[in-house]
Amino acid sequence: MENSIIVNGLRFTPFLSAAQIHEQVRRVASEVRRDLEGKRPLFVCVLTGAFIFAADLIREVGITDCEVAFVRYSSYEGTSTTGQVKQLLGLKENIEGRDVVIIEDIVDTGLTAQRMVADLKERRPASVRFATLLHKPESSRTGFCPDYVAFSIEPKFIIGYGLDLDGSARNLPDIYIHEEE
Ligand code: IMP
Repeated sequence: MENSIIVNGLRFTPFLSAAQIHEQVRRVASEVRRDLEGKRPLFVCVLTGAFIFAADLIREVGITDCEVAFVRYSSYEGTSTTGQVKQLLGLKENIEGRDVVIIEDIVDTGLTAQRMVADLKERRPASVRFATLLHKPESSRTGFCPDYVAFSIEPKFIIGYGLDLDGSARNLPDIYIHEEE
C-alpha cells in the first residue's frame, strides 16, 4: 500500500499528518490557556509516549509561570493492554493546592488515566485536569472522560508522534494506524 511502513513486522498506514496534529494541539492549547490563565499550573507529562505532545502543548499554552513534572506508568505489551497498571515513576513534587494538568498520549481502556487521577487526587491538589492527544472512546472499560482531547479515534493501534510499538517509531512526525489484514 502506498506510503505504508512496516514496524516490527506489522504494516501501518498514514493516519494524521504533522500539520493536522499541530492544528489540534493549538486548539487544545487555547482551551487549556482559557481555563488556567492567571494560575500557576503544574503540567504532569506521562512518560514515555506523551513527551512530544507535552513539549508542543506546553509551548503553545504559553503560560510562563508554570512547572513541568514527569510520571511513568505501564500497561501495554505489543499492541494490546495487559489490564494491569503499574506505576514505574511517581511525582516527587508537593502538589497540595496546585492546579495540575496531566498530559497523556492516548486514553484507550482508561485504566491508566483513572489510576493516575486517583493517585494525584490523594495528594490534595486544587484541581486535576486531563489532556490527551488521542482518545479511543469505544475501547473504554472505565467511562473515563478526558477534559481535553486533540483527536477521538477508532479503536485501532497507532504509532508515531511519541507513540510506540514495543519502543519503536516514537520519532515519526506523523501518526500511523495499524489496519488488520
Ligand atoms: P489504557 O490504560 O488502556 O487507557 O492505555 C493507556 C496507555 O496504553 C497509553 O498511555 C499508551 O502507552 C498505551 N496505548 C494504548 N493504545 C495505544 C496505541 O494505539 N498505540 C500505542 N500505545 C497505546
